[in-house]
Amino acid sequence: MTKKPYDLIIVGGGMAGASLACALADTGIHMAIIEAVPWQSDQQPSYDVRTISLSHGSRLIYESMGIWPQIDNDAVCPIHRIHVSDRGYPGIVHLDRKDAAVEALGYVIENRALGAALMARLETLEHVDVLCPAMVSDVDVDENFATLICTMDSEDITVVGKLVVIADGGRSGLREKLGFQSMTDDYCQTAIVCNVTPGKSHQHCAYERFTPSGPLAMLPMNEDHCWCVWAVNHEDVEGLIALPEDQFLGRLQQQFGDRLGRLSRAGKRYTFPLARSRVEAYTGRRVVLVGNAAHTVHPVAAQGFNLGLRDVAWLAEVLAFACGRQQDPGSSDILQQYEKIRDRDTQQVTGFTHGMIKIFTSRLMPVIAARNLGLLVTDMFPELKQVLLKRTMGLAGRQSRLARGLELRELPPKQ
Ligand SMILES: Cc1cc2nc3c(=O)[nH]c(=O)nc-3n(C[C@H](O)[C@H](O)[C@H](O)COP(=O)(O)OP(=O)(O)OC[C@H]3O[C@@H](n4cnc5c(N)ncnc54)[C@H](O)[C@@H]3O)c2cc1C
Repeated sequence: MTKKPYDLIIVGGGMAGASLACALADTGIHMAIIEAVPWQSDQQPSYDVRTISLSHGSRLIYESMGIWPQIDNDAVCPIHRIHVSDRGYPGIVHLDRKDAAVEALGYVIENRALGAALMARLETLEHVDVLCPAMVSDVDVDENFATLICTMDSEDITVVGKLVVIADGGRSGLREKLGFQSMTDDYCQTAIVCNVTPGKSHQHCAYERFTPSGPLAMLPMNEDHCWCVWAVNHEDVEGLIALPEDQFLGRLQQQFGDRLGRLSRAGKRYTFPLARSRVEAYTGRRVVLVGNAAHTVHPVAAQGFNLGLRDVAWLAEVLAFACGRQQDPGSSDILQQYEKIRDRDTQQVTGFTHGMIKIFTSRLMPVIAARNLGLLVTDMFPELKQVLLKRTMGLAGRQSRLARGLELRELPPKQ
């Protein structure tokens, strides 16, 4: 079966790919989105059991897209305060929504609820073909088109388009196939994630606690539960996962401390190996990478998908403008424009998260002294706090039209 050429083909209907299709909903751009695993499936790697912390800036983007009001309210918990500490040392930073004059600094959202809202929107779009389950196995690009081979219902089909967006996640197979060079740093850490019940109410505070093995986050959830993201060295994972619940909670409590009272009822524990990766260039001939396919960061400070959603918002802006003027969306000028816009934010976020891990896992006394001084000074000086708040809220640097509550397509983005 050969389909007529699309303006845009998105490979991967995870959070980044589906968000891009929804962001372009009102432009009429003729799109196909190809996803290997149905969103309700237990095997779905994007809309899985996790909850994700979305920044205030990401909320603004989803509001402009009309997605925010569609997310099930029961699956969203606002973050009013953030408490950052260094286990065993005095450095602490408090961030408060009052310092930023916003309703919430961010929101903890169940991935599946976000998936449900995105998929419900996709189903209403007549100019978008959702091919799922369909696995892309090969891609070839020439001067005029990108041609993809994918397997759907045990048949190989060919899908042709002017531009292909690779949003197939951090283990992107297509990235390598297309010759993109990527750099990877293995943190030799794994995140153990689970739901826990604290003895005291979290009062909408998100905790980020640095420990010698890695950071431990306790994120507020509804019904006074917390979502725990605990980064530990690879060699400790198996032992921690195998521990009976009370002993696991004891180890967790030892690292986290008593700020939330006695921790109880750990839900099922899941593991995710952690690495940082970044491609040297985000675009190639008729190809662009977004989300984790372009950059994967450590979950410290919850930056990963927030960064990916800013990719999506800017790419939608560039493509909507180009298509509104009947320009070829896969032309190299359009892709260069996108590349220039995204480079700085990506470098800053990957550098910021990587730097935090290096600094906060160091056991060298001068580094420990400097980082604690840094935390104390940041807490004391409102100007420094504002810098950290902007980064945390996803408002550092230039903002896309969607992040500013504007419609797509009016003016070309400045480079
Ligand atoms: C423990 C942990 C906690 C995190 N917490 C946060 C947080 O609090 N805040 C935050 O912003 N980020 C967080 N992140 C990062 C966030 O999970 C990722 O940035 C996000 O999932 C990336 O979305 P994506 O759509 O780019 O990729 P993915 O979620 O990996 O989705 C890729 C999609 O592509 C599909 N696919 C793959 N190959 C093919 C193919 N060949 N053909 C068709 N389809 C294909 C897959 O099935 C999948 O649906 C966390 C990450 C981890 C590991």
